[in-house]
Order: sequence, then C-alpha cells, then structure tokens
Amino acid sequence: MIKEARNKLNNVFGFEDFRPLQEDIISNVMDEKDTLVIMPTGGGKSLCYQIPALLFDGLTVVVSPLISLMKDQVEQLQQYDIPAIYLNSSLTDQEYEHNIQRLKNKEIKLLYLAPETLLMERTRKLLANQNVDLFTIDEAHCISEWGHDFRPDYRELTEVRKDFPGSTCLALTATATPRVRQDIKDVLKFEESDTFLASFDRKNLFLKVADKDDPLEQTLDFLYTRKKQSGIIYCFSRKQVEELFVELKKAGHSVKPYHAGLSKKLRNRNQELFIRDDISIIVATIAFGMGIDKPNVRFVMHYDMPKNIESYYQQIGRAGRDGLRSDCLLLYSRSDKQKIQYFINQKEGKEKKVAEKHLKDLMKFLETDECRRVPLMKYFGETYEKDDCGMCDNCLSVDAEVEDLTVQAQKMLSCIARTNEEFDAYYIADVLRGSTKEKVLSNGHDEIPTYDIGNEWAKEHWILLARLLVKQGYLSREEQHGALKITDQGKAVLKGKENVFGVLDRSDTVVDDEAIDRTSTDVENNYNKDLFEQLKKKRKELADQQSVPPHAIFPDTTLMEMAYYFPQSKDNLIPIYGVGSVKLKKYGTDFLKIINKYCRANDVEENTELLEEKKEKQQEHGQPYERIGKEYNAGKSIDHLAEQFGVKDVTIIKHLKKYLKEGNNIRPEGIVKASSLSTRKRDEVLEVMDEVPTHMLRKVYTELDKSVSYSELRIIQLYHMAKNNK
Ligand code: ADP
Ligand code: MG
Ligand code: ZN
Repeated sequence: MIKEARNKLNNVFGFEDFRPLQEDIISNVMDEKDTLVIMPTGGGKSLCYQIPALLFDGLTVVVSPLISLMKDQVEQLQQYDIPAIYLNSSLTDQEYEHNIQRLKNKEIKLLYLAPETLLMERTRKLLANQNVDLFTIDEAHCISEWGHDFRPDYRELTEVRKDFPGSTCLALTATATPRVRQDIKDVLKFEESDTFLASFDRKNLFLKVADKDDPLEQTLDFLYTRKKQSGIIYCFSRKQVEELFVELKKAGHSVKPYHAGLSKKLRNRNQELFIRDDISIIVATIAFGMGIDKPNVRFVMHYDMPKNIESYYQQIGRAGRDGLRSDCLLLYSRSDKQKIQYFINQKEGKEKKVAEKHLKDLMKFLETDECRRVPLMKYFGETYEKDDCGMCDNCLSVDAEVEDLTVQAQKMLSCIARTNEEFDAYYIADVLRGSTKEKVLSNGHDEIPTYDIGNEWAKEHWILLARLLVKQGYLSREEQHGALKITDQGKAVLKGKENVFGVLDRSDTVVDDEAIDRTSTDVENNYNKDLFEQLKKKRKELADQQSVPPHAIFPDTTLMEMAYYFPQSKDNLIPIYGVGSVKLKKYGTDFLKIINKYCRANDVEENTELLEEKKEKQQEHGQPYERIGKEYNAGKSIDHLAEQFGVKDVTIIKHLKKYLKEGNNIRPEGIVKASSLSTRKRDEVLEVMDEVPTHMLRKVYTELDKSVSYSELRIIQLYHMAKNNK
C-alpha cells in the first residue's frame, strides 16, 4: 500500500520523498485506524489525507474552519486535476447545485466542508448516500475550549461522525500546547498508539532578537536586503500599523496594512493582494494570519514584542511553510515589556497569574544567551537535544569572529563620562564623530577631548557598540531617555583593567554564510536570480489567467530548481521538485520555452549531470548520505566528494556524520585530511572531546577558550566519533 502512496507522491505531486511521519501516518490511515496528527505548520499535514483520499475507493470528507483555507486547498488540488470541491456559504446557488450534482455522480474524491455546513440536515442526508471512507478534521484544535480558536460547531462533529460508522477518522492540528492536545484526544477518544507527534522545531526558520533602538531604521535595514521577498511585520496596535505602513510606503516598499479597524472588504482585499504576490509586505496586528496558507513567506518581523511565546510561535510559523530558509526578527524593548505588564496589571486572579507566567517564559526566550531553540522547545514540552542549531542569533554569535573592541569601548566610555552620563547612544556617537549639530555645539561638547576622536567608524557602528556594551554589562541604559551610565565593570575598562570582546550585531545581516551552508541546499544558494524572476513572471501570468494564487501553479522551490538545473526537455523536467505528470503536461512547455530562451541568450547549458544524478536518486530512493558514505569509504576524499556533489566540505561532513549515526563505520584517516589544525592542536581538541560529551560542541568550544573555530571542531568531532565507533 505504501508503495502506491509513494507512487502518488512522486507522480501526482512531483515530490521526491515523504517528510518525517507522513509515511507512518498514511500507513496508519490506510489500515483504517483512527489517527491524530500533531505537526507544526508547514510540516505537511495536508498530504496525510490527500494521498489516502486518492487511494481509497470512496469519498474523503475534510472539515476545515475557514473558507479561505478550503479555497486555497481546492484550488491547489484542481491544479493536479484531482476532483476536489468545497461546499460553504461563499458559493452561489448555481455553483452549490453543480457541486452537489458532481457529488451525486460520484465524481468527487475530496469534499471540503465548513463545520456548520456539515451540521446542516441536508448535507447530512446527502452524505448518507455517499461512501465516506475517510472523515478528516483539519485544524482540530478548534475542538478544544482551551485553544485560542474554540468553535462550538467543532464539538458536534463527534455526533456527525456516527453517520459514517464505517469510515476512518483523521484529526490534524498544529497545536503546540500539551493541554489542548490532551483535550482533542479526550473529545475524539483517540488511543495513544495512534497519535503521531512531530517535532515542533522549525529548522528552516532563522530566529533573531535585536534590541529595539531605532525601530524604523532597523526595519528599513532589514527590508533593504530582502527586496521582492514576501513578509509580514507585526505591530502591537492599529495606530502603529498605520504609521509604519505610511513610512514603508514612503520608502518605496510594496506594502499594505491589515488590522481590525479596516473594513472587512479592505482587509480581504489586502490579504488577497498579499497571497497573490501583488504586494510583498503586510504590516499587521495579530488579527492577520489565520487562514493564510501562503507557502513562500520569507520573513516575519515583530516590530513590537509579542504577548507570549505561543503567539510568537504561531506568528513566525507563517514563515517558510515551503521549507526554504526564512528569517524571523523580533525587536525587543523594555518599554514594550512594560506595556504588556500594564495590560497584565488590569487583570485579576488566575487570569493574571497565567499572563504573568507567559510573560516570564517569553522573557526567558528573549534574554537567553543559549540557543534560542532551547527555551522555545522547552515551552512546548520538547527537549532540544543539540546545543547549537546554527539558525539563531546566539548560535551564530558564538561562531562569528570575535573582535577586540577595547580601544573603541574606551573612547565611548570616556566620552560618556565627559558628558556626565546624560546622553543617549546617538548623541554620544555624534560627539565621537565630531558632529557640528546645533545641540552638540550649544552644549559645548565640541570642546571636550573626546570630540571628533571616532571617525574610524560610521555612526551606526558606534550605536551597535553601545548596544553591545549594555548587553555585556559595561553600560546601563536609563529607561526614559536612553541616557547611558557607566557601570563598575565599565570603569574597569576605562582604567585599562578589562578588555572588551564581541561581535557587532546588525539587524540586516541575519544569516551569515556558514549558517547558509549548514541549513540550506546548494540550489537555494546558487540558483540563477534572473531566470528565476522571469519564471516568476510567467507563473504570475498563468495564475492570474485562472485567478488562482501563484503557488497553486508551482511553489518557489520548483522555479528555483528550474533556474539551477536549466532543464531543456520535458524528460528532464520530471525530476524537478513539484513537477508531476499533470503539471508537466499543463505547464511544461510554457516554462521550458523561457528556460530554453534564457540559456540560448546567455550561453548557459543544462546541468545534465546533476539532473541525471537527481533522477537516479529518485529511482533508487537512496538518501544522499548513504551514497556519500559508501563512496567515501571506497576511498574518495572529502574534497573530491564536495566537488562531485557540488556542495561545500561541511555538507559532506554532515552527511558522513549522519551515515555514521545510522550505524555504519567510516574511515577515520580520511577525515583528518580535511582539517588544517596542527597535530598538537588536534590532540588538544581530542583530549577535551574525551572528557566532554562529544555532541556538546559549545562546551568543547568554551573549554578550549574559543581558540578553535566551529568548522574545525566539526571535523575533529567526526574524526573522534569515527575512531570510537570501531
Ligand atoms: P501544514 O498543513 O502542516 O501546515 P501543508 O500541508 O500546507 O502543511 O504543507 C506545507 C508545504 O509543504 C506545502 O507547500 C506542501 O506542498 C509541501 N509538502 C508537503 N509534503 C511534502 C513532501 N513530502 N515533499 C515536498 N513538499 C511537501
Ligand atoms: Mg494545513
Ligand atoms: Zn541556536
């Protein structure tokens, strides 16, 4: 059975492999067992019922709470020529009747319904005459009163379920809290053994928290390096949304606002513009996001602090559903915290206690020096096993080259002292850089010795330094006006008794090269941007013709792969992500034309070899790490393999590690060759690794006084593992 499922995955949906748990879930459903699926947003829940729907003889009913979600799914399925329809209040009488007729003719495989439609007598009668094999409840957390989204209609589904005693029930949710999960299980009476809980770690999301100093500037910096990307910016209030919207518009960004103060019509329109890629950015209150299934949201920014971890997680969850790297930036300030505290103080009793606990948990996440995934996952009852995710600001700052900033710190501290600790970072930076601003001159600060001694740095550098000094405890910042005060620790620096080390942290460079290496594919990093834009244009044109969202035609990943492999024939389009037989027929020629033309005009050739490899891989379903492991053991060097697979050394190391963890041996000698450490240094590292659990690289790193880089440590770590495996 699972072979047929895989067949559908490859040939209908055009995907290479199942995501974690999908295969097990589909098997369980095909064995006709009631199943509960808890998987984060973007995990791929839909396929868990869409594939069984294609395999069962009868009908699959899908209950979904929002019209926009139903519409999106049905539009996507119709693109694969899968007979799917929905019944809800948005249809005209005629459309409704037409759909009913098709249902009666048994032409339909998937029927999407709003719960209130399903509860209607006439729908129940209609379904009584259908052979319902699978009864699916999507967004099942709506069943729970503990959830953020309780819908009384959902509770009654347990009654309706009795109408089809022969059908299997599948409930799915992205609920993160254990309490709601338990509630769903209780209400639906599911057994433990048929519950599938996926990890809630969204590996492709880069998490960053930055101090909110000059939020507009920080936002513009952030957007500057993300042109043409889709993203959401969350603000606390409607007023803030409007203000920021005006500013971004003024700066030339393609942006619309969204909040409950706008008319429903306008809200829907702005949402639609966003989903259809007609605009790039939505500035919104938390009112925005429910019912959005847009897969290519590349960033989510919190202009203001979220209320608690749960809403934060839910909001960032809207980024990167397609699995591609996406950035999440949160601007944090104490005054935002006070605002939230103020609202909490209005509450009473238990409600107040709960809100306070939420705020405390959020603060843990914001203020941690550890990997951000540790407190985040902990909140959701999961232990984060690794100590270095490589995809958060804290993990990267350990990796980044630490600079000695003592000289500049002394200049800054001294300037603060000479201006009586009365000014904020911007003013201090002005004085250091010899500004002739009115305020500086009238205060007589052009006369002090620290005037004009800091021209080696741009203003923003000094501001970043001030942030760093506050963070490291050399300065404190007065809440109201941001005046900087020197702490005792700061005085030690002034006296030359202590040195300052750190990495100047910038909001726009969220992800550095090493993170990119570790977390994304070569396709993602090296696809041809020009061709990609041309393909996007075509996609938009096709989407508008049929008035469906662009991602229903092809997701971004498909276009990226096209702009990487440059396939020149229909045959060679088949291995491309998201190209199944139906879409190949529908759109193959359209896109091939563009690729062909681009290649001719720019003298680019098809990446035939890599395409062949991709094809082979799909046929044998071997994982890349297996091939790499085998070829490595057969004598190929790491360098050689990196070249052969078109990836960097670190990627090969990663695959070898996986190969090893799957219970294979690898040749230790070959690994050392990839390291550039001296033998003495290497033995020093190995000694530490004998003491500290090898997987805790961060510990090893500090144990060695940060003298060996992470990339070197990863090589030696693998060597250590390989040796001890024997
Ligand atoms: P969820 O409902 O869990 O939030 P979706 O079902 O909407 O997630 O899937 C998210 C995205 O991942 C969709 O664009 C979908 O096409 C894609 N996807 C799902 N499963 C796979 C797979 N096995 N291989 C590749 N892409 C997949
Ligand atoms: Mg879903
Ligand atoms: Zn991390």
